[in-house]
Amino acid sequence: MILIISDFLETLNERQITSGFAEMLKHGLIRNVEYWESLKDVTSLFELRNHILPSVALKNDIVLQDPTEQNIRKVLNYGHTLGHAIESYFLENENKETLLHGEAIAIGMITEGYLSCKLTGLTQGELEDIKSTFFKYYSKVDFTDGDITAILELLKYDKKNSHGNINFVLLKHIGETQIDVTVPTDMFKEAFAYYME
Ligand SMILES: [Zn+2]
Repeated sequence: MILIISDFLETLNERQITSGFAEMLKHGLIRNVEYWESLKDVTSLFELRNHILPSVALKNDIVLQDPTEQNIRKVLNYGHTLGHAIESYFLENENKETLLHGEAIAIGMITEGYLSCKLTGLTQGELEDIKSTFFKYYSKVDFTDGDITAILELLKYDKKNSHGNINFVLLKHIGETQIDVTVPTDMFKEAFAYYME
């Protein structure tokens, strides 16, 4: 049973709410362009209570179709392959302020959006839409060349890797995904450059 008691949102500060919001944006990106469009109009994050149920329903539908993560459930990892590496790097580095999970995967969704544009058909317009939407809610994080090298090193330890290949879930369009995409390693730095430009 899933109980949604949205009054508890009021016990969270805005940064935590914004962090959770990233997973809702992800649900739109991977499965439902109308839902994505509706979230773009959210101006106060306290309006989110009306959007929670569709988000849970969307995730539930995916999980029920693939309880043991053989195929379709992988789509929930969109933004998380680079996002987890970014999150771990900021967590382990004492000189960096820690990023919340949603803040890290927001960066993952922009950079993996770039990879989607290069590899799986996401249009330039859709990519710009993704980037500008995330920057409406999340401030830009600076990465030095050293940061990026260390983050890419951490990618190798992602639990979703198999046999040395890093498999990504990428977008064919907003609302449509492709699983098990292998990304040429030289493309990662370009993705960070796109995020920062
Ligand atoms: Zn997540």
